[in-house]
Amino acid sequence: MDGSRGDRYKARDSSIQSRKRKRTQCLSNVLFSIIKPDATRRNLTGAVNAKLEGAGLRIVAQKRLQLTEAQAKAFYAVHKERPFYGELVSFMISGPVVVQVLEGQNAVAKNREIMGATNPANAEPGTIRKEFAESIEANSVHGSDSLENAKNEIAFFFSESEIVG
Ligand code: ADP
Ligand code: MG
Repeated sequence: MDGSRGDRYKARDSSIQSRKRKRTQCLSNVLFSIIKPDATRRNLTGAVNAKLEGAGLRIVAQKRLQLTEAQAKAFYAVHKERPFYGELVSFMISGPVVVQVLEGQNAVAKNREIMGATNPANAEPGTIRKEFAESIEANSVHGSDSLENAKNEIAFFFSESEIVG
């Protein structure tokens, strides 16, 4: 009897191992996304998520939070020389945001497509920014522009245990 119980434990262990492996594999194609304050203010979290999920991306982590000024400045530090940096930081702390990790095949490129162009005036019909954005600044969503940036951006907001693929 002991033997069979041992086998059962072994079987369970190996299934946990394979689940972990699967999770690591699927998380190799991830991106970081933010639903911005203009969208949370207008109660569009679900509408944005429907677009993301409808296009085949999976939300593997998500939380709503109020960014601090220091967080917003650090997150957008790449844009600190741009003329709109100060206003962008003020906008990003003007209300709650929803930060997310999205997973899917070619996730970064796919999400850029679903989001549409930075300026909603130039965004394709059916994209999040065409349908929901208020302006080039208040454009409803952020999405990573490369896998490498995605990994850094994810680490900025999420611990590994919060990401469940
Ligand atoms: P994207 O979000 O499409 O990757 P960028 O990385 O160039 O675009 O810019 C980051 C964010 O800064 C944009 O999503 C938008 O909120 C804001 N932004 C970009 N360009 C302008 C601009 N000309 N005026 C005001 N805000 C801008
Ligand atoms: Mg960008």
